[in-house]
Amino acid sequence: MPDEMARPLIRGRGGGAGSRQLEASMSELGAPVIGILGTGDFSRSLARRLVASGYQVVVGSRTPKRSVALFPEEAEVTSQLEAASQADLVFVAVFPEHHSTLMPLKATLAGKTLVDVSNGLRINRDGPSNAEQLADLFPESSVVKGFNTISAWSLQMGPRDGSRQVFLCSNSNKSKSVVMQLCRRMGFIPVDMGLLSSSLEIENLPLYLFPSWRIPIICTLSLFLFFYLYNFIRDILQPFITARKSLFYKMPIETVNVTLPSVALVMFALVYLPGLIAAFLQLWWGTKYKRFPNWLDRWLAGRKQFGLCSFLCAVLHAIYSLCLPMRKSARYKLLSEAFKQVKDGVEDSWVDEKVWRMELYLSAGILALGLLSLLAVTSLPSVSNTVNWREFSFIQSTLGYCALSMATLHTLLFGWDRAFDPARYRFCLPPTFMLVLILPVTVLLGRLALFVPCVAGRLRQIRRGWERSRHIRFVLPEDGCHNGLEDISNV
Ligand code: NAP
Repeated sequence: MPDEMARPLIRGRGGGAGSRQLEASMSELGAPVIGILGTGDFSRSLARRLVASGYQVVVGSRTPKRSVALFPEEAEVTSQLEAASQADLVFVAVFPEHHSTLMPLKATLAGKTLVDVSNGLRINRDGPSNAEQLADLFPESSVVKGFNTISAWSLQMGPRDGSRQVFLCSNSNKSKSVVMQLCRRMGFIPVDMGLLSSSLEIENLPLYLFPSWRIPIICTLSLFLFFYLYNFIRDILQPFITARKSLFYKMPIETVNVTLPSVALVMFALVYLPGLIAAFLQLWWGTKYKRFPNWLDRWLAGRKQFGLCSFLCAVLHAIYSLCLPMRKSARYKLLSEAFKQVKDGVEDSWVDEKVWRMELYLSAGILALGLLSLLAVTSLPSVSNTVNWREFSFIQSTLGYCALSMATLHTLLFGWDRAFDPARYRFCLPPTFMLVLILPVTVLLGRLALFVPCVAGRLRQIRRGWERSRHIRFVLPEDGCHNGLEDISNV
């Protein structure tokens, strides 16, 4: 064992006896010979990583002489037939279109494990997968699908950079466990995805482009566009049309800074709205065993992305707000205000109400952002894995509603008495904050309605399997009664 530990994983090029010496030492250790068909980018990176992990590698090429210089000295580059006959486990690192050109190796590869690393060009929903087609071509070999989600770059850099998970599936448990072992030895984490029928899903994985983010991003951009135009019409166009006042300088910062919190608050309310709709549907149906409509299912599954989009807008709003006093326009305004007061003979411009409003407004905003940051951090898989389900739902639901209340309070304090000032209704359009408040206030009132003891009790019963139509009567144990808040995110 000590000798084995002292042996370097990668031998230097000036190692002397080269591949023959390695062959001798590997057979002493009983390390299997790994074959690779193809000499492209993937094959080269894989060969380096396998050699570094202590494997004996034999690469099969149509033109071995042309490719030999591209591989580490320890790897043997030979013909496809030679490579296939030497190895028990063979990586097929050629494009799936060329799998059929490997047919002359069929007899040689019989009884061996073939690892299909190929990816498709576009998402394939109907099948068959590349791996299934390869299995059809080589019925006497055991095909394992895997490594297609690992790029040649990640293989070359090793598992310290890039994704570490390798998704594997096969109809042969024995072959799959051999590949899993190899994966671990290379420093990757094998993830067993079951039978070869999962290969379609594995092949599609690297082709998806943020599938769960599409709707939240579209929502965020649409809301941004809507509120930006709304603010532009009210704050810039209206003064220009009615009083020829040019306030277009507000477009890059001030208008954006009024738009961002509007989007953040509406998006945050959209995180909690589907949970409420689901709860009210369950109360209405009197059962939890009826399926939610598809749109609600998808919405419930995408709440994390909605929350993270809201968090991004809130953080940008905070940064923009901190930068407001740095602008030249803000300095000019401050100076002209001061001159005006001197001219008017005003000695003290302190207005208690305004001061209090601003203090409370900022404090509520900072608290909301703090809580939102906590929610964002706990939504990271590495953090959420360290808390149990009750802790997770306490943070995401109870603290989430606290954050929503704080953000709503922040907006209410911004509005203060402006809703009652007719001058604020420019072009008959109500101030933006009034529109923004509709959804969060509805969500908070809906949540309060679920606190009513008889409603909360019935919802708890439904969540424990009670059905109105079956008349099953039971009472919940007293100590199992919470306020019902935690259960909401569970729907
Ligand atoms: P590549 O650079 O084009 O290499 C493909 C190799 O296939 C060629 O070098 C060639 O080697 C061999 N080959 C065997 N029969 C062939 C034929 N009839 N026509 C053309 N070439 C033939 O491709 P690659 O990037 O290494 O990708 C290889 C496989 O790995 C693909 O299925 C790909 O989807 C998968 N993959 C690649 C990556 C990546 O980052 N590159 C990541 C994941 C999965 P010889 O001329 O020496 O025979």
